Parts: sequence; structure tokens; C-alpha cells
Amino acid sequence: MNYTDLKRRVVLSIFILLSSLVVFSQSIKNYDGNIRVDINERKVQTDFEITFNPLPRIDTIKLFIHQAANISNISSNSNSIQYTVLKEQFIGEDKAIVINREEIVNDKLTINYSYSLDSIQNKSFRFNKDWVELNLYTAWFPFNIDYGNFEYAINVELPPKYELISSGVISKNRTSWQVNQKMPFVDIPLILSSHFKCISVEKGKIKVYYLDLNSEDEEIIKNDVNAQYNFLNGILGKSTTTNLILAINQFNRPISYARKGFISLTIGNSFSIQNEKTLAHEIGHLWWNKASAGSWEDWLNEGFAEYSSILILRKKYGEENFDKNIRELENTIKDLPSIYQLKKENTINQNVITYKGAYLLYELENKIGRKKFTDFLKTVHQKKIRDTSELLMLVKNALGIETKNFVETKLNE
Ligand SMILES: [Zn+2]
Repeated sequence: MNYTDLKRRVVLSIFILLSSLVVFSQSIKNYDGNIRVDINERKVQTDFEITFNPLPRIDTIKLFIHQAANISNISSNSNSIQYTVLKEQFIGEDKAIVINREEIVNDKLTINYSYSLDSIQNKSFRFNKDWVELNLYTAWFPFNIDYGNFEYAINVELPPKYELISSGVISKNRTSWQVNQKMPFVDIPLILSSHFKCISVEKGKIKVYYLDLNSEDEEIIKNDVNAQYNFLNGILGKSTTTNLILAINQFNRPISYARKGFISLTIGNSFSIQNEKTLAHEIGHLWWNKASAGSWEDWLNEGFAEYSSILILRKKYGEENFDKNIRELENTIKDLPSIYQLKKENTINQNVITYKGAYLLYELENKIGRKKFTDFLKTVHQKKIRDTSELLMLVKNALGIETKNFVETKLNE
């Protein structure tokens, strides 16, 4: 296998891993970070404390970081730790740091390093002073995808006039920006710019950031966000108080990605139906966000958000589009384990919770009819259903024991 093949394989594997992540042990609990971004020097200075929960039952801890990261110190409990660097890569431009597990005291590890923004090779995320975008694909923070979803709290110092958007609750004081993310996920995405434009929809519940969209696209996106929000608001009622940040770039990259409450969406010359669907899924999460994100119960968030996006598109584009989306779901879930299988094995599989969850809702809608199904969705939201046992109880009370058994069968299929 030559280098290009290897690289392609690694890059492919990250997409597969991200979409069908299997977590055997939840190992990183959270990151606390102090970050300084210097645009003139094109450098990020970083100071992370990683808390493990609990430490995996293995001899060593392995973290991947950009190969150009200049590590000044790794310590635990204020004692410097020896570490080994391996050539092993996960995203194709990183290196692996290996630490003896016994060196880590109180499950906490501190890593200080600097990271040159010029060293980013991924064409999608090459340094651009107008739109600096850091995430898992740039290996800007030490990570190991096998260690599961995590929370983070970071403090970021930016050059004057620069603004920061991210996944999480963002606040700002005189000298720095803070991001707090309490919904566990696999990434710490940051986008910086000194000249973001912003459309604020629904009193700031949804904010769309971009640099330069032509006025036609600006209008289309604003209308789509409004229409999608209003459609779900109409059938489900008031959403839960979470926010959504939508960052739109026109770099026509091969990749768009979604994190909790955050989307980085790349568009080319126009805003496609696929872009609309991604947007609709994320808008769905303004309602579907009550189950625990770190477990198989996440299907109540992901499956419902995904099916909501399909309903939004059905409303706009009609039955043909709907049939196409259902056929796509059927293809995706072929050969996947059941939702209850995840429960049994205490694992997460993003494809199962998202697409099997959505397909289950499709089958339920088929069984009980569209009108009853819409009422059911509304009740699930308004009763603040947080787990599957509550959902089954609700199905039993609202739709009868036979339908409850039907849903249980589907959870096992
Ligand atoms: Zn989602």
C-alpha cells in the first residue's frame, strides 16, 4: 500500500468511524482548555487538562495530535510525565503520543503545546485568516476517538476584532471568549473570523454565520431556516431552550459536519436539497434533545431529528422526495444491529440510533396514520420523554398495547 492509498484509507476511516462510532468504554470525561490564537504568527498556544472517567483498563493511554504540534510539557498532578511519540496516524497528518497509565494521577492529564496554523495540510481547512476553522480533522487538540464522547470548557484569547463560534454555550468577557459544551460529543470545533456576517432567526435561537453569500442565497437560506422552524413549531409546539449555530462557507469543500447545536456547512454555487436536509436535521434537534446523548437512548434525539428532517422535506417537495428518502433509509440500515442490541451491549452506533431510529418512526407512522402520528410526536415532545421506557409507556397509553408491542418488536429488529 503506497502512502496515498494509506492516507486515503485513514481519511475514509475517520468518516466511517464518525458515522458509526462504537464506544466500548467512556474514557475521556472532559477537556478544560486555555487557548491563545495569534493570527499574525499563525499559531495556537494551548493548555489542556483532560479528565478521564474512568481510566481504561489498559497499560497505556494513546492520544493523537497534529504531527507539527510542539509539545512543551505533559504532566499529571504537577509532575512532568515521560511520553513516547509514535508515527501512527489517525487523520493522516497527526502523530500518536503514548503515556504510561500509571503516571496519570487522579484521572487528570495536562498537555501544553503550540500548533502552527500553517502546518494544516487538509485542503478543506488550510489556514485562511478570514475563516480559521479548527476541528477533529485538523487534529488541533489531543484526542482518541476510541475514548468516546466528552464535554469541554475552554477559554479562548483572540486577536482584536476576531469573533468565535463553536458548538456549545458561548460567552465573552473583555479579553477572551468562553465555550461550554455539556452535551458530550467527539469534537471541539472552532471557527474564527474578524468579519462574520450573521442572520439571526427566531430571536437569536438560530444564528447563521457566513462571510459573503450573494443576496439570493442569503434570502433562500433565511427562508429555509424560517420555514423549517415554523413547520416543526406548528406540529410540535414551542421548542426546548437550546440554540443552533449554522456556519456556512462557500469553499465547496468535500465535507460538511454537524456537532451538537452546531453545523459547518459548505456550499458551492447553490444551496442544495442535501444542504437543506442537513439543516432540517439540526433544526429538529431544537425539539429533540432530551435523551442522554452519551448512550443508546440517543436514538430519541437522533432518530426523531432525522425523521423530522424527512417530514420537513416531504412537506416542501412532496411524496416522491419522501419515497426516495425512505428507500435511502432502507439501504442504510440493511445489516445494522437493532437499537436494543446497542442497549444490550452498552454501545453507541451513530447509524443505528439515527437511521434505524428514523425508520422505526416511519413504520409507526405507516401503522397508525399521519394525523395520529403527528399528534403522537407532539405528545412525545410536550411530555418531555427522556428515555425509551417512558416512550413505551406513552405509546401504550396513547395508542394501545398492540402498538406498544409493535414498537418493541421494531426496537428488537
Ligand atoms: Zn443529530
